[in-house]
Amino acid sequence: MHEMYIAECILDAARRALPETCAPEDVTHVTVRVGMLDAVVPDTLIYLFNAVKCSRGFAQANLEIEEEDVCCKCKSCSAAFSPKDALFVCPTCFSSSVTVIRGRGLTLMELTLNELEA
Ligand SMILES: [Zn+2]
Repeated sequence: MHEMYIAECILDAARRALPETCAPEDVTHVTVRVGMLDAVVPDTLIYLFNAVKCSRGFAQANLEIEEEDVCCKCKSCSAAFSPKDALFVCPTCFSSSVTVIRGRGLTLMELTLNELEA
């Protein structure tokens, strides 16, 4: 189970992305994009995020996950395609020499902060 590690990474990234004038307590939403290749279970990730967020100061933060489909590009004929299964084979020329161009890794998309009252 690697979701715990990912939850920690999200909190680290959120802290780095936070402007100096803001505190982790001000964050209400953290939106991340997760590639489907990383086989993350969203419910598990949200559960673990909620379990560790208070110890990192992000007591109010809710995690939102956008799942990103996998997209590959063939190195032989440059066709872009979404693989149907675990075999990454080009549907145009049947080459197995492909590059994953989308659907891998974790991207911090957005932090939503509490509106500060004037
Ligand atoms: Zn091809």
